[in-house]
Amino acid sequence: TSGQSSPHFPPLQPPPPPSAQEVKEQQSRGFTFAPQMIFHPQQQERQMLSHSSMESSFRVFMGSLTMEVAQLKHRNFGSSSNLIKHDLAYRLYRMPEAYDKEGGVNQERRFAAAMLRYRDPGAVDKMDPFAEQEEWENYQSGKANLKYGSKDKKQASADYQYVFEDGVDFIKESIMDGVNYEDEMPSENPDDSIAKTVLHKLQEERKTLPIYPYREQLLQAVQDHQVLVIVGETGSGKTTQIPQYLHEAGYTKRGQGFGHASTPTAACILASNAALVLGRKALEWRLLEMNIECQLFLVGCTQPRRVAAMSVAARVSQEMGVKLGHEVGYSIRFEDCTSEKTIMKYMTDGMLLREFLSEPDLASYSVIMVDEAHERTLSTDILFGLVKDISRFRKDLKLLISSATLDAEKFSDYFDSAPIFKIPGRRYPVEIHFTTAPEADYIDAAIVTVLQIHVTQPPGDILVFLTGQEEIETIDEILKHRTRGLGTKIAELIICPIYANLPTELQAKIFEPTPEGARKVVLATNIAETSLTIDGIKYVVDPGFCKIKSFNPRTGMESLLVNPISKASAMQRAGRSGRTGPGKCFRLYTAYNFQNDLDDNAVPEIQRTNLANVVLTLKSLGINDLVNFDFMDPPPSEALLKALEQLYALNALNSRGELTKTGRRMAEFPLDPMLSKMIVASEKYKCSEEVISISSMLSVGNSIFYRPKDKQVHADNARMNFHTGNVGDHIALLNVYNSWKETNYSTQWCYENYIQVRSMKRARDIRDQLEGLLERVEIEPTSNLSDLDAVKKAITSGFFHHSAKLQKTGAYKTVKNPQTVYIHPSSGLAEASFSFITIFCCVLPRWVIYHELVLTTKEYMRQVTELKPEWLIEIAPHFYQLKD
Ligand code: ADP
Ligand code: MG
Repeated sequence: TSGQSSPHFPPLQPPPPPSAQEVKEQQSRGFTFAPQMIFHPQQQERQMLSHSSMESSFRVFMGSLTMEVAQLKHRNFGSSSNLIKHDLAYRLYRMPEAYDKEGGVNQERRFAAAMLRYRDPGAVDKMDPFAEQEEWENYQSGKANLKYGSKDKKQASADYQYVFEDGVDFIKESIMDGVNYEDEMPSENPDDSIAKTVLHKLQEERKTLPIYPYREQLLQAVQDHQVLVIVGETGSGKTTQIPQYLHEAGYTKRGQGFGHASTPTAACILASNAALVLGRKALEWRLLEMNIECQLFLVGCTQPRRVAAMSVAARVSQEMGVKLGHEVGYSIRFEDCTSEKTIMKYMTDGMLLREFLSEPDLASYSVIMVDEAHERTLSTDILFGLVKDISRFRKDLKLLISSATLDAEKFSDYFDSAPIFKIPGRRYPVEIHFTTAPEADYIDAAIVTVLQIHVTQPPGDILVFLTGQEEIETIDEILKHRTRGLGTKIAELIICPIYANLPTELQAKIFEPTPEGARKVVLATNIAETSLTIDGIKYVVDPGFCKIKSFNPRTGMESLLVNPISKASAMQRAGRSGRTGPGKCFRLYTAYNFQNDLDDNAVPEIQRTNLANVVLTLKSLGINDLVNFDFMDPPPSEALLKALEQLYALNALNSRGELTKTGRRMAEFPLDPMLSKMIVASEKYKCSEEVISISSMLSVGNSIFYRPKDKQVHADNARMNFHTGNVGDHIALLNVYNSWKETNYSTQWCYENYIQVRSMKRARDIRDQLEGLLERVEIEPTSNLSDLDAVKKAITSGFFHHSAKLQKTGAYKTVKNPQTVYIHPSSGLAEASFSFITIFCCVLPRWVIYHELVLTTKEYMRQVTELKPEWLIEIAPHFYQLKD
């Protein structure tokens, strides 16, 4: 009742004054939240409250708010529906008491949560003015998938040596037994009559999955137990089928909806008005009422990887014969493909974690399935703690923890001895081959092995496990080159890469059946280990490596390194070849290596990563006591401490470890704390427009510039144009974005400047969302292009940890934890120093700030900008002190 007028609202009618008794009550105990009541309403209360007489007072404001919502919708937001929900919810959440009253924050959060369970109707179908551009992109990426080799000449079991000179020697070491191998697999009925619809065929296929015979038992178990651990071989149908079974069994039935509002948006509006017009006490009733009338309806399924979330959602929507984003949708960072209709939602574990911020009790969900639990990603581990907590007071919430490996006891123990449901798997025996001697170059060995299989082995597709996009692209290229040279000597080899940044249309390609006479080779990251099942794989090539993020809590540095996989991973990989028939796995390491050099299991991510982001999320969920948080495997206390320290240095936490206003604003951004701090700090330097552009460009990853092998000089020249004045990489990214914008987001312009259109479009999407979030944390969009130092200062406010000083040698030394680092060759600063033919020290800036460190041949700083050392002292005096 502060009477302050918000720019968004018409002047308010004064609310009915609370009675003296009410005031006293509120002051003495604040607002109390009674979850039991909300979820288990008494029949009489339901009757009483649904005829609330408050209704009429809400209606007064509906008109004006509806307009506002309409306005919001017309903005070009990436995901308008979400923003509207959030915007309305946020008004509640930021009511003045929310900030300053102890404990108030969480309750405001709960208000917001109650509202967010109303989904906004129909996601606005985005127009795509970039069809032309897309075509070009498709053409570009299509080139990468041209098929080589002859179609007509069938490959005989020609001797490999006849075609190739090199080879890798394998010895057959062991045979991995099949699992519950059943002689009579239901056949897929190859001569389907034309009359059979695709949908029907898919329905038939569903019935052939190993999980199908256990459908009823599984549903019964879900009904009988609140928490269930589900274990089943990869490909048995856990991810695609269980949510469908639950849907078929009625777990996605909606309630009657909100009686007084015809649409969910209207319901939001009503609640928003309730917050403004009535006191909190009244709102409490109001929300109670809303809860009563709205029933849960969402089945949520988390995936550790975004590609998996997208691909599985696509598959399920096909099986159900609905449009992706309607009944079945997915939600990954910066991309919400769900709508009001959505009842089955696949999402990354990180997204569900963020949903707790707006809906701490996950009230719109009837079932949460934490899938791929064995992956033990950081977000999954945190989710365990959170869902376990809410399952205690939300007895109606079903929790399914599903995993591909057999050590399910640990999950069961953690969830208070939850029963384990085992889906008997089907796997054919797999022959395992090891190399006779260690391979010096596993990339080369992998290529040779693929070709070796191709020309000597009977039909069946090949799956190669690689560590990342770069490696995949390299092998892709070499394989094409080598097969092209052979022309019609060998059968057609279809090369299909799959990794996280691969455009969606191309991702679907890996699932297409291989044409007769050809062989498919899938080049995949770890994603194909358990997250995605590709039918038809008979041969697996396993170099034995994967990229692992590791964090050194002492130096606070995080790096992504190529590491040997675990024995468990190796077994999973081998298993991928025995799904539809006996398979073979070629390991590019020796049996001795396997026995002696591989760990049994991978270390959970929580024990080897930077925790700052998670700590910030937990703090904003009101979980302050991190030491006693119910971790399945607690993180090292050193890492926890480091995270707290970092957040304190960023001013996200105060000295007592409590969330500050800055921290609360930072938590709104789905970004790394350093990036979100840089955005929040841009308010001070009046350059929020520039800073969100830079943040979006940084978030896209390192795929902005395109550098074709045959035109490297042209590409480098084009790139250096954005560095004019040696402005640094951050500003160069800004220049790229702004120039593109000036051409009205032209595809042609990207083409001319060796810029990847797809990445730019993604940056624009991200930027739109960050813009929406700026508004939510009430930062004015301001531009300050004339003062680049201001922009750099904002960057420094987030990244002061990442500063380095030039040494006499031409290398840099990081300031906080001295370590020798170099400017990455892709940096404009490095380029500039080479183009002047002079010694490094004259050209290289004395002080720099960098976005990230990458370790390849050396420890490199990527995205580097010059810095004035006095900024460090001005911006982070608690972190840097003057030293003579
Ligand atoms: P699980 O989760 O138990 O590993 P899934 O439910 O992912 O198993 O897979 C079940 C079946 O669905 C597999 O045979 C797989 O080939 C098929 N499948 C899954 N995703 C796709 C997709 N995107 N396209 C085609 N088939 C798919
Ligand atoms: Mg799965």
